[in-house]
Amino acid sequence: NTPARYIGRFAPSPTGPLHFGSLVCAVGSYLDAVAHGGQWLVRMEDLDPPREEPGAADRILKSLDAHGLHWHGTVAFQSHRHHLYDARLAELAGRGLTYACHCSRAEIRRRGGHDDTACRAQREEQGPCAVRLECSGGEESFDDLWYGQQCQAIGEDTILRRRDGLYAYQLAVVVDDIDQGISHIVRGADLLETTGAQQRLFRILGAAPPQFGHLPLVMNPGGQKLSKQNRAPALDDRQAPANLVTALQFLGFRVPAGLEAEPPAGILSWATARWQRRQVDRRNRPLDRIAQADQ
Ligand code: GLU
Repeated sequence: NTPARYIGRFAPSPTGPLHFGSLVCAVGSYLDAVAHGGQWLVRMEDLDPPREEPGAADRILKSLDAHGLHWHGTVAFQSHRHHLYDARLAELAGRGLTYACHCSRAEIRRRGGHDDTACRAQREEQGPCAVRLECSGGEESFDDLWYGQQCQAIGEDTILRRRDGLYAYQLAVVVDDIDQGISHIVRGADLLETTGAQQRLFRILGAAPPQFGHLPLVMNPGGQKLSKQNRAPALDDRQAPANLVTALQFLGFRVPAGLEAEPPAGILSWATARWQRRQVDRRNRPLDRIAQADQ
């Protein structure tokens, strides 16, 4: 049941260059959008300067371009959208739904988790404190495109602004998805567990939650998700056709021999015409277990 308007997105954080794991997410979200006649937006999640790498945002956009992954309209940069996060934060505070939490991470860890009831009474912001949303309790259910029916307990009040004063990822991502009219969120399975809390935030902000779909993660041979922290190699843009073919195989395509001789646009249009959600094996796995190319 595809809504009349499909708007999807790819939302990288510029903490390093694209690697194979991020390429799989980019290609999967692109194909699902374009195959459903939708738009595919790119949003640069440059919300956390201390974790960012200078030049990474540019490099990511160049890499997407080199792989023929052309986005609709202009790229949204979260660093230019603080006014939107501020306005929503003020709205929630005005509704009496936020509170200051002065607990440090170490204190919360020592107590075995955040104690919502102890902190909720504090409305005053004194010294470094996080701003939390009163939202915990009960569950959120959603039907994931690959993981099926999910039910997640909302065990903790969501942080909207961090103790260091930066907007929290959860606030920015949901505010942007609402503002950009995103109908489908196709992203890596590492974010499956944050989905219930995000869905709760959509509802509290008065918006219908989008359709969620979580794609398999590319693991390294040690069984960890490829990431900058464990030194996933950057994609080589000069190998774009071969990279795309590998990403397509990971996403369950049986790729004809010789496809990598095509330019990226040709490879992506071949895949768009054949994309089926049910072809995706949702298991996280290393790249070397992809199907062999048909000979
Ligand atoms: N910026 C997040 C990341 O790179 C992704 C956010 C999302 O897709 O919802 O992990």
